[in-house]
Amino acid sequence: MLKTYGSKVALSLAGATVTCLVLLLFLSQHQRIQMDEMQNESEIGLRSLQSLGESELDDGAQPEQNGKKGFSAYFSKLTRSRRDADKPTEASGAATDAPPAEDISAEDIFIAVKTTKKFHRSRLDLLLDTWISRNMQQTYIFTDGEDEELKKKIGSHVINTNCSAAHSRQALSCKMAVEYDKFIESRKKWFCHVDDDNYVNGKTLVKLLSNYPHTQDMYIGKPSLDRPIEATERLGDNKMRPVNFWFATGGAGFCISRGLALKMSPWASGGHFMNTAEKIRLPDDCTIGYIIESVLGVPLTRSSLFHSHLENLQQVSKSEVHKQITLSYGMFENKRNIINMKGAFSVEEDPSRFKSVHCLLYPDTPWCPPQVAY
Ligand code: UDP
Ligand code: MN
Repeated sequence: MLKTYGSKVALSLAGATVTCLVLLLFLSQHQRIQMDEMQNESEIGLRSLQSLGESELDDGAQPEQNGKKGFSAYFSKLTRSRRDADKPTEASGAATDAPPAEDISAEDIFIAVKTTKKFHRSRLDLLLDTWISRNMQQTYIFTDGEDEELKKKIGSHVINTNCSAAHSRQALSCKMAVEYDKFIESRKKWFCHVDDDNYVNGKTLVKLLSNYPHTQDMYIGKPSLDRPIEATERLGDNKMRPVNFWFATGGAGFCISRGLALKMSPWASGGHFMNTAEKIRLPDDCTIGYIIESVLGVPLTRSSLFHSHLENLQQVSKSEVHKQITLSYGMFENKRNIINMKGAFSVEEDPSRFKSVHCLLYPDTPWCPPQVAY
């Protein structure tokens, strides 16, 4: 009896020890995975910016680190502590149940898509088949070459900017200048800019913008840096002035209210945008941030619902894909940076995941497989 009892105790003790060991092993693994993920995220942000820095952001921003000039050095100097940075205000998001500040509809929004001729087939056709097909009336495509096929699909909504097809600071600013002028002409209430590797959820965009009167000064988007960019403004007479401002990264998309856009006119309309961009020698999206934050003193309202491929897209929650406003896709160190969703199509069939997102949002689309629980 005593022996049986003793062996039972020994057995339970052994069992408890094994359970503890398994638990400890699991916890340490889990922590390591989390650490790895955190590291990956910061690397994606940093390296993408570094590669931009090496290629084209050559001379506008604060350089100098260990005598190494240029953006790479500048960006590597940035720490990742968001908390102490002077953060922009947070958008109330699309999920709030508060009554809208203004009852707007899709037609009140002007969505500008920036593209270039070489991406018409490889990137733009996917957008036309997916989100643009549901937002034809408010979407305008800004490109740099004639394309009859594109004209047949979207008519006068494709605009040949006649800007250079290069991926240079000047060429990108040239396109942004035309986007701005066309928006002013359109008389619509909101200007939104996206790249040709963005998916736009029109419904959540309307919901977010309804939170604000379009006559108020609003600049909404997501910064890709964790603190304001430090640039140098050229004042003429060889004088320079340091300027710090937040900007919404163009690759995630951003929106500007008509009220604010009109105030930007002296620095953004006609040929002024190019001159302003030259003053700080930074790309188009930074120039927008400079005009709004530095010149006009209007702070960026941050929204976590905009996404560029400079962030780790795996971190967009699977169950919240339908709540996002913009999504993107890209490559990072030869690996796909895409959202993690099961969806209607496999990654091979739908590498950007945009077709799967589209079928989730609009299951009645003829080419979407019959509705199944994804
Ligand atoms: N783009 C352009 N001209 C070019 C290359 C790119 O107008 O010569 C546009 C492109 O269509 C996209 C945006 O610039 O809308 C960003 O390009 P990409 O996604 O290739 O680069 P990223 O800056 O995101 O790394
Ligand atoms: Mn891109």
